[in-house]
Amino acid sequence: MLDYDLHCHSNISDGTLTPVELVARAAERGVKVLALTDHDDMDGLDDARAAAAQHGITFINGVEISVTWRTHTVHIVGLDIDPTYPPLAEGLRNVRSGRGERAQKMAAELAKAGIGGVLQGAYRYAGNPNMIGRAHFARYLVEAGHCKDVKSVFNRYLAKGKPGYVPHQWAALADAVSWVRGSGGVAVLAHPGRYMVGRNSMGKKTMHELLAEFIESGGQAIEVVSGSHTPEQYAEFARYAAEFNLMCSCGSDFHGPGESYRDMGRMPDFPLGCIPVWQLWEEKNNM
Ligand code: AMP
Ligand code: MN
Ligand code: MN
Ligand code: MN
Repeated sequence: MLDYDLHCHSNISDGTLTPVELVARAAERGVKVLALTDHDDMDGLDDARAAAAQHGITFINGVEISVTWRTHTVHIVGLDIDPTYPPLAEGLRNVRSGRGERAQKMAAELAKAGIGGVLQGAYRYAGNPNMIGRAHFARYLVEAGHCKDVKSVFNRYLAKGKPGYVPHQWAALADAVSWVRGSGGVAVLAHPGRYMVGRNSMGKKTMHELLAEFIESGGQAIEVVSGSHTPEQYAEFARYAAEFNLMCSCGSDFHGPGESYRDMGRMPDFPLGCIPVWQLWEEKNNM
């Protein structure tokens, strides 16, 4: 079992626990090395780092950047980043800046579909109003009785092609990777398996093109063991990692108790042949 969890969310983005609560849960679940990777925001890192020190956990600064690549939304995780690096901080501020307007449009679309009052409701779930996102809408729509759980809300209202979906332009791939690399961090392609299912999913050829462009921009790793992957996908993306010479990362993508596919920590080992991404910073820091 892996005692690294390098992908999870606090209420600084769309998780439900505070950074301090999240770290306590990781400690309880046996995580030894933790990265907090909130969407497009680094404000939770200081609290999480302090809490990790109290629990004897090694803490890695992280972030998960929303990217628009061609017609796809993809996520780039930055690990071992420096949150004070100005291009990274400013880049993320720009990425965040469209969220308020997008939320208004989403609420307007849902109102057309007969569901009113959603904007105010969603903001009640946003621990950080700058980071209002679809998960906050989903939680409110469950509360208001429109669906039985968050998953169903996405399937019915919030996924691409559904009535509450509003297309949005996020960061460019090369920019996101360069902010991460420029700050001294490692750029990781998050949950690639997610891009190959559902509406507008990528085929293998497009995945190859994405990986080539990601590497060309400075990308170094890919999530293999992820809460968003099936065991078959661990093997599939271990093969992509070998083919493209990418290092391998693992993380639960935990968002909150009762909401995620996977709780924190206790992830199965990598398939044989994977080179763990932490070699990069453990060598650098002599850990
Ligand atoms: P946003 O960045 O506002 O578009 O929200 C994206 C977030 O919505 C993801 O990080 C997940 O937390 C959540 N999400 C996306 N698709 C689904 C889904 N099918 N089921 C549950 N949560 C989802
Ligand atoms: Mn999320
Ligand atoms: Mn993601
Ligand atoms: Mn995530």
